[in-house]
Amino acid sequence: MNLNSPLFDKIRSKPAAEEVRPDNEPRCQHMGCARKGEFKAPKGRDHEGQFFRFCLDHVREYNSTYNYFAGMSDAALQSYQKDALTGHRPTWNVGVNGSVPPDSKLDAASLLRARLERLRRAREASATAASRRTVGKAALKALESLGLDETADKDTIRARFKELAKRLHPDLNEGDRSREDKLRAIIDAYNYLKSVGLA
Ligand SMILES: [Zn+2]
Repeated sequence: MNLNSPLFDKIRSKPAAEEVRPDNEPRCQHMGCARKGEFKAPKGRDHEGQFFRFCLDHVREYNSTYNYFAGMSDAALQSYQKDALTGHRPTWNVGVNGSVPPDSKLDAASLLRARLERLRRAREASATAASRRTVGKAALKALESLGLDETADKDTIRARFKELAKRLHPDLNEGDRSREDKLRAIIDAYNYLKSVGLA
C-alpha cells in the first residue's frame, strides 16, 4: 500500500498546534483532553521529525487508527477515496482538497475516527463487490448444488465433491435412479467449477 497517497496527506493535514503550558509541559493534543502529553506520535509525511503529543489513552487510539489504515487493501482505499470524492455524507464536509472549515472543532484524532468509520464501510462494500465479481450466478448455483456458498475454497469444494460422489455412487445405492441423477448433477456442478477455476 502506498502510504504517500493524497489520502494520507489529507489525514495528516492541519495538525493541531502543540499546546505548551507555562511550565513548559506539553498537554495531550486530543480535543478536550487536559492530560499530560507524555507520549509522542509521529505526524507523518512532510512532518518528519515532528510529533503529536498525547496522553496514554489517546496515543493508543491514534496508533490503533494508524494500524488500521496500514491493514487496508489498496482496493478498499481506492473505494474509500472514490467515496470521498462524491462527498455526500452530511456529517462530514472535508472537500476534495482536504480543507477543513476554519471553525471546525475537529482535531487529528476525531478526524481519524470519522475516516475510520467510512473506511470500514468502504472495505465492506469493496469485499462484497469482489465476491460478486469472482463468483457469477452459474458458479453460485453449482456451489449450491454441492451444498456450499461463494466462500468455499478449492479444498472445500473438492472434499465436498468426493464425499457426495461417494455417497451417491450407484454401487452403494443398489441402482437407485434418483441418486444417479443427483450424482450426475454433482459431477456437472463440479466440472463447471473446475472450468471456471474455482475447483
Ligand atoms: Zn488525551
